[in-house]
Amino acid sequence: MARTAAITLAPAAVRSVRRHHPWVFSGGVAGVEGDPGPGDTVLVRGDDGAALGWAAYSPASRIRARMWKFTTNEGSDAPVTAEFVRDRVLAAAERRAGLLEDGSTDSARLVFSEADGVPGLIADRYGDTVVCQLTTAGAEAWREVLADALAALPGVQCVFERSDADVRSREGLAARSGLLRGRSPSPELLAHEAGLRFAVDVQSGHKTGFYLDQRDGRAAVASWAAGRRVLNVFSYTGAFTVIAAARGAATVTSIDSSGPALAVAVRNGALNGVDVGELIEGDAFTVLRGLRDRARQYDLILLDPPKLAASEAQVAKATRAYKDLNLLAAKLLAPGGVLLTWSCSGAMTMDLFQKVVAGAALDAGRDGAGRELRIIGRLHQPVDHPVPLNFPEAEYLKGLILQAP
Ligand code: SAH
Repeated sequence: MARTAAITLAPAAVRSVRRHHPWVFSGGVAGVEGDPGPGDTVLVRGDDGAALGWAAYSPASRIRARMWKFTTNEGSDAPVTAEFVRDRVLAAAERRAGLLEDGSTDSARLVFSEADGVPGLIADRYGDTVVCQLTTAGAEAWREVLADALAALPGVQCVFERSDADVRSREGLAARSGLLRGRSPSPELLAHEAGLRFAVDVQSGHKTGFYLDQRDGRAAVASWAAGRRVLNVFSYTGAFTVIAAARGAATVTSIDSSGPALAVAVRNGALNGVDVGELIEGDAFTVLRGLRDRARQYDLILLDPPKLAASEAQVAKATRAYKDLNLLAAKLLAPGGVLLTWSCSGAMTMDLFQKVVAGAALDAGRDGAGRELRIIGRLHQPVDHPVPLNFPEAEYLKGLILQAP
């Protein structure tokens, strides 16, 4: 039998893994035994040789190993097996059962990678369809087991793969997309939520086709929209737009640079029997300046830009973009108006984001007067996107609810 592949960690990495952080960076690996390949399971040892757990090895990635499990009994427990991987998927799906059974939605993230103990697997469920992304060498190595586990979940008829996120290249993996199990996804696939219906473009939409992570944002929009003039910036397929219209907004204006996304917004309006209002295709920065120059005012502004900082290195540049956007939004906010503003950049903390928005508001008033916006609420990724206490990196979506005097 082949010798078990193993890695030995440097002291700082040992401390991190002992705190159950799931990532081992390349610099934390002091030694490698047994020539493990991409995605192979390796025994992880401390600098004193003590077994710390099992991890998926990824020779191409800066994150050299991702922990599958932490051990306390010197590695005498079984290494990672198909049954273990399947059980992790089932347990993650089981934790969402309450959310999916309470009747308000048929769509949820079933598996959120490290946050559910399945590094590299994202699986989103829309009714009977599961759309998954395999983002790491470790997940790729278990592709068939993962596909079977998802296909075996009660009521699942289709498992479709959208492994086309950029992150795969960091793991030395090519993009991959297509049917994994069951029948083809319906071109008419819908996410049902809070009595509304949203088209899910499984084949070519963003991420897995719909922003499940904005469920709490959608609830907030629903509660603020009535009677207000709404501006939805970075509207994508108009989820916020449709909710605002359905909840009695006075007017709704949506901005997105993607024509196809706006076309789906029109379809979403029709699906829900609402008028989506004014749709502006263009660059949000430019369009917002135009609205400012025309002195337009809105009572509810939604600002949900794409990830502007993909890494720590981009935070400084992204900070300027976030400031620009929030400054323009603050100028467009009518007296008493409400601004919902988000950052989905994991590299930007809530603390930093709040400072950036504060700077924007300060610069927004006429004649340097500033705008005294008050925080009346905070928004986060929803329950199906959990953040392990020992893995704060899972937290990426944060938002502020601000009110103008
Ligand atoms: N709020 C949306 C998700 C927004 S995703 C929802 O809940 O569904 C970000 C959107 O920003 C994408 O639709 C993308 O097309 C758009 N986008 C990216 N850069 C842009 C830019 N410079 N100007 C306008 N839209 C942009």
